[in-house]
Amino acid sequence: ARRSQEVIWYDSEMRLQDNDYKAIEGELRRAVAEGGEFEMHYQPIVSSRKPSKTVKFEALARWKNPSLGRVSPDKFIHVAETSGLIIPLGWMLLDLVCQDVKRLSCARVSINISPAQLMMPGFAKEFAERVAARGISPSQVEVEVTEQVVILDDITIATELSMLRDHGFSLALDDFGTGYSSIGYLTRMQFDVLKIDRSFSPSTHKDKHGARMLQSMVGLAHAMGLEIIAEGIETEEDVDILCSIGVDYLQGYFLGRPEPIFPSPGNPSILNET
Ligand code: C2E
Ligand code: CA
Ligand code: CA
Ligand code: CA
Repeated sequence: ARRSQEVIWYDSEMRLQDNDYKAIEGELRRAVAEGGEFEMHYQPIVSSRKPSKTVKFEALARWKNPSLGRVSPDKFIHVAETSGLIIPLGWMLLDLVCQDVKRLSCARVSINISPAQLMMPGFAKEFAERVAARGISPSQVEVEVTEQVVILDDITIATELSMLRDHGFSLALDDFGTGYSSIGYLTRMQFDVLKIDRSFSPSTHKDKHGARMLQSMVGLAHAMGLEIIAEGIETEEDVDILCSIGVDYLQGYFLGRPEPIFPSPGNPSILNET
């Protein structure tokens, strides 16, 4: 576990100041015990073929704390991972997602899972049991893991991932291209979907090199029978370029921001759209 914590820490985009970390950890510990401060938002994932339609939603956690305000998931998920709170928090978030999927009936959803969760033996079994207890089919649920799981190359993680797959959940490799992308690992682990990190989206990555990288990632993924989602689509130009390159699905602010499924004051519902 020590090793994974170091990797997660190192990989984190920002290093939290000690004070910040302590404050967040304290509040997070209480919030996880009491519940009620977390909410899931959902961002549409849209097919690139016309007419484009939403094929699933990515569930993204939101935390609003009375004293800290809104804390970004990049921060609190990181604190949860390094403090061990990701285990109870992860179950709480899965429950929220399952409740929403149930009320939406027949929607598909993808859920982010941390390496620290997959390092827990028996994770896949409990995950499957909790989803089943909510009356949701595994075919409705996709699990997203980042390239950190590739870096760790841990036997427990590999076992739990393949068990999730055996249970009927599909697996997506998130943030592809940002870390250590081992083609060997891609062939060994059976992923269904590859999510190309938003740093590769054309509006962000302007040089010719970026376009060629994209093209070869798409070629590689298709050759391996994987579906491809491009993240961070912010402009119409992104849509055009990525569609012409052959990406299967698109996700980003241009197509829809993460929003709660059910309306609350000041927040529209994604169900009210179109
Ligand atoms: P991620 O899994 O890579 O999620 C995508 C992030 O990109 C989200 O940030 C989303 O709001 C943001 N995004 C979507 N479209 C665009 C775009 O067009 N442009 C830009 N600049 N950003 C876009 P968010 O919601 O702040 O989440 C940050 C990270 O926190 C996630 O990155 C994920 O690693 C983690 N996270 C969020 N929710 C959960 C969760 O429930 N469990 C776990 N383990 N991690 C989570
Ligand atoms: Ca994700
Ligand atoms: Ca991502
Ligand atoms: Ca990310």
